Amino acid sequence: MKALVFATNNKHKLEEIRSIAGGKCQIMSLSEIDCHDDIPETADTLEGNALLKARWVKERYGYDCFADDTGLEVEALDNRPGVYSARYAGEDCNSENNIDKLLGELAGVANRRARFRTVIALVTGEEEHLFDGVIYGNISTERHGEGGFGYDKVFRPEGSERTFAEMAAEEKNAVSHRAHATKQLIDYLNENL
Ligand code: IMP
Repeated sequence: MKALVFATNNKHKLEEIRSIAGGKCQIMSLSEIDCHDDIPETADTLEGNALLKARWVKERYGYDCFADDTGLEVEALDNRPGVYSARYAGEDCNSENNIDKLLGELAGVANRRARFRTVIALVTGEEEHLFDGVIYGNISTERHGEGGFGYDKVFRPEGSERTFAEMAAEEKNAVSHRAHATKQLIDYLNENL
């Protein structure tokens, strides 16, 4: 069976992708290949960061590898925070102060359109591929719901009255940016492995 590394140690992401892959390939985490490196994420695009991580593993550990990077792109903020979503509020940032900063910047702004975008980079010996998953929605004016993580409490996907944080995990995962990008990766692997 084909073995691939997913450049993450996030258990939730691993479980999700393993279940979508349905056992057709073996997917290993960074710790499972004994990689404990602090892989730099210094690019200024999602594509750049995903490629940096996947190339790092391929070049140093020899495994075919894929890596993801996600950002929230807000139309009225010229697509910020984008690649900087995790550290939007600065050095001591966390989900709560990131959301505070977002709601502050959007105070009084009528255009609340935004999208989550996930890029997955796949690096094998022969080639590099990028897969892009997007979900459009709106930023609410205040927090709603308790589930999820990151910006979920203020992101209402298009066509829904509820934020991601008000949805069951399975409901969000069926339509999310990550699900769309992951599905493209799995389709590619199924056709090419
Ligand atoms: P990562 O590339 O998956 O680590 O995501 C970067 C940042 O984007 C995270 O720290 C979160 O703030 C935000 N983010 C990513 N995915 C989601 C999501 O599904 N819901 C809410 N926020 C997210």
